[in-house]
Amino acid sequence: MAQRIAVVTGAASGIGLAVAQALATDGDQVVMADVNAAAGEQEAEKIGALFVKADLSQRSGCRQLIDTTLDRFGRVDILISNAGIQHVSPVEDFPEDKWDFMISLMLTAPFLLTKYSWPSMKQNCWGRIIHINSVHGLIASPFKSAYISAKHGVSGLTKTTALEGGPLGITVNSICPAYVRTPLVDNQIADQAKTHGLSEDEVIEQIMLKNAAVKRLIEPSEIGDLVTYLCSDKAACFTGSCLTMDCGWTAT
Ligand code: NAD
Repeated sequence: MAQRIAVVTGAASGIGLAVAQALATDGDQVVMADVNAAAGEQEAEKIGALFVKADLSQRSGCRQLIDTTLDRFGRVDILISNAGIQHVSPVEDFPEDKWDFMISLMLTAPFLLTKYSWPSMKQNCWGRIIHINSVHGLIASPFKSAYISAKHGVSGLTKTTALEGGPLGITVNSICPAYVRTPLVDNQIADQAKTHGLSEDEVIEQIMLKNAAVKRLIEPSEIGDLVTYLCSDKAACFTGSCLTMDCGWTAT
């Protein structure tokens, strides 16, 4: 295949950035999408990627991202749907606008981006779709109702589209990590420290790593390494999987 065209969302920071860097290192032409243009443009320049500013909580933003990629490169071979946020609140206080936003960004956008990329992958009889899901796509924790509902939905989207994609040469998988060292988690550590009157180290040890057999945060580059493997031809029989990288959390 000629150089592969890989779209990565939420690519200005954290896991998305590490995945974009890993795919670029692997030789792919990367299209990095994010609502944060300042950081996104700067990072894209470093790895020779195209940056597209897009608000993926909007249907028009998802459409514009794939249309821009097709106009510029003529194809989409790899889709990494990663953009996401967290909001922690008891269900009775959970802001309804926040629920709508999170479901749009973290469940509807993965569906729309899959739908819009599908014809190109189908035409080329080859595609790789990977959703950056979460251990919370498989199990629950309290106070994260929107996040956990969206991520469980992504697990269903992964399985259903894998069944449709198999005969077309398109594989679809989810990666389900536990806590990864990114700005999203740094914010949660700070919040939890305040809520529970603990130090940030105590939050990591006593709350985040409580159920982990391997007692450390995951590095974003470790997700990048798994993505590059799943995008290779060696991984052709991985499809419909929600692959845990959870330091043993769900083994308990
Ligand atoms: P992050 O905050 O470092 O990065 C998220 C990126 O998404 C940011 O660059 C942000 O600007 C972008 N974004 C936010 N809203 C957007 C919108 N409307 N349109 C486009 N882009 C938008 O977070 P991260 O930790 O790298 O998380 C990335 C993904 O990984 C999320 O889906 C998250 O649920 C998942 N995840 C993270 C962890 C973790 O511990 N960090 C664990 C499991 C799953």
